[in-house]
Amino acid sequence: MNVLPRLAGNTPPKLRRRSVMLGIAAYGVALLLLQLAYVIKLIGFQGAVASAVLIVVVNLGFYIVFKVELNKRAADTSLMLAQTLAAITVIMFIAYHFERERSLALAWCLVVMLFGVFRFKPRDFVTTTLFMLAGYAMVINLLMSFKPQQVDVLIEWYQWAWLALLLPAFALIGARISAMRARILRSNEELTNALATIQDMATHDSLTGLPNRAALSEVLQHAVTKATRSKDGLAIFFIDLDNFKSINDSLGHPAGDQLLREMARRIRVSIRESDLVARLGGDEFVVMVENGADRVGLRLLAAKILAAIGEQTQLQGHDVKVTASLGIAVFPSDGNDVAALLANADMAMYRAKALGRARINEYSADLGEDAVERFEIEKGMRAGMQNNEFHLYYQPKIDFNSGRMLGVEALIRWHHPTLGVLGPDRFIPIAESTNFIIPLGKWVIEQACRQSKAWKDAGVASFPIAVNLSVNQLADSSLALHVSETLRISGADPSMIELEITETAVMRNLEESIAILEAFRALGVRLAIDDFGTGYSSLAYLKQLPVDILKVDRAFVKDLPHNRDDLAITRAVIAMAHGLSMKVVAEGVEEKHQFDSLRAEGCDEFQGFYCRPAMQSHELEALLDRHGLAIPPEK
Ligand code: C2E
Ligand code: MG
Ligand code: MG
Repeated sequence: MNVLPRLAGNTPPKLRRRSVMLGIAAYGVALLLLQLAYVIKLIGFQGAVASAVLIVVVNLGFYIVFKVELNKRAADTSLMLAQTLAAITVIMFIAYHFERERSLALAWCLVVMLFGVFRFKPRDFVTTTLFMLAGYAMVINLLMSFKPQQVDVLIEWYQWAWLALLLPAFALIGARISAMRARILRSNEELTNALATIQDMATHDSLTGLPNRAALSEVLQHAVTKATRSKDGLAIFFIDLDNFKSINDSLGHPAGDQLLREMARRIRVSIRESDLVARLGGDEFVVMVENGADRVGLRLLAAKILAAIGEQTQLQGHDVKVTASLGIAVFPSDGNDVAALLANADMAMYRAKALGRARINEYSADLGEDAVERFEIEKGMRAGMQNNEFHLYYQPKIDFNSGRMLGVEALIRWHHPTLGVLGPDRFIPIAESTNFIIPLGKWVIEQACRQSKAWKDAGVASFPIAVNLSVNQLADSSLALHVSETLRISGADPSMIELEITETAVMRNLEESIAILEAFRALGVRLAIDDFGTGYSSLAYLKQLPVDILKVDRAFVKDLPHNRDDLAITRAVIAMAHGLSMKVVAEGVEEKHQFDSLRAEGCDEFQGFYCRPAMQSHELEALLDRHGLAIPPEK
């Protein structure tokens, strides 16, 4: 369909009726002047009639030429030069018949030339000038031959010479003016084209040439208004390619761009001419189906689009197959305005992804609160980061022997504008699945380094801050570099930063993990294995790991000291860790008996509500202000 008609380009100059009317008017004036000339006896009766006839004949001739469109064969369809030459011929004819004051007739030549200003090229002015001078010379000769009694040759030649001097100057000025006019026309045309380009850029996606979000909203708005009035069907498909990012990452951005263009083309040819496909950005497309089919028809069309997307694609010598997830929202049942329709189609698409991708999902109001919340979380994370809604909370780590705080663990919280304060369990898994964990994880490291430096500068006692790393962050090859850059830029002391990696993450690929841990080690930061004991891995691999700290998972602490198995495991882990010169930190110590039992087993440090939950930096500062590092148990 024709989205926002692109500005018309430069329309070719049409031959307008106006030109004809102008010609008739000019000749009308000429006839009038001729009559006047007769009245004041400049011209005789016969001469006047002959001239009038000639004027009418010439005018009629041109009228016919234009009527049968003979002029279309000429380069200049207005036949300006031909008309001018004809007019000069007529003037010369009249001048010949003037009985005195011939110069008055000749003055008309200048008027005729004025018309040329609008279309003549300099060459045309030269032609006209020469034609005029030649014409007048001929008139003088004819007068000398046929009306010698009426002509004062000297005066006529004097007039001729006067014209010969004046006309070139006139032609020169005319040429200038017409060149200026041409320039103005040209820049006007350029301006129109530039405007068209700007409008095009504002409403179209430069990569695929499809309408963009702005254009889509506008068209959708029209469609919604129309559908409200006519009760015609209207539906929205929200399409998102599955795993597009991995193609971008593995084959490079040019390949990703090529894929997007190809997918745009495939969607375009799958739908009717009257439907619309727009690209919202990234790998998201929206199709608007008007006058649409029923639900079954919509599903069939959606399936056709997914099939087209799923066909094999050649990308830089690789055979690639992509799939997409598609959400459907129908007006007005699934949303009665543009925003609701789009949001619900998006949510339906999102659900299609959650159901395992490469599928179609129709919006239904009971998509489930979970899905809605998950959706809100996923969609809101990027904005949340921009709006500084993420915060690091700090939980003290306490030394069993001295009871003093030896460090803190940084735990992220999201102060969500509508959902309240969210713990990491609510959004970290989602961030991992969308890879948002990479920028988020970087922010955590930066924030921890900044905080460490700020505390140092403020003279708060120095202690390490432990930062949690997720599995996907470990897989990001630029992580070590980022950590080292962050340390350098923030000015934080590397030995005051600790990185926590879960046992499960380490065990994913032991060899690779060891290499990564070594790289971190080289930066001077301390390393801890988090949630130890949940990975069901053999203790033997521990000695291969270049780590300083082992954090025993909360699950083993929970039932201490009553659960004999947990006690035995804890005891073995502590012994083993100490044998490898690692410190052992117990997580989730909530009660005094847990505390006592771990202390008796020789555990080094603990974290838990028994001392304090994680708190904001200013709360921790207040706590340290009050107690120094010797924070008393809360209970
Ligand atoms: P974790 O690293 O094992 O962190 C310890 C978790 O136990 C924290 O939960 C903490 O608040 C909680 N906890 C501490 N003491 C007690 C206690 O006495 N009783 C109980 N029941 N819980 C206690 P939180 O803050 O909800 O964090 C959960 C997990 O989310 C963390 O487990 C960590 O794996 C992850 N996480 C937190 N912050 C980040 C982060 O910045 N980046 C990444 N990648 N993961 C993070
Ligand atoms: Mg941790
Ligand atoms: Mg843990």
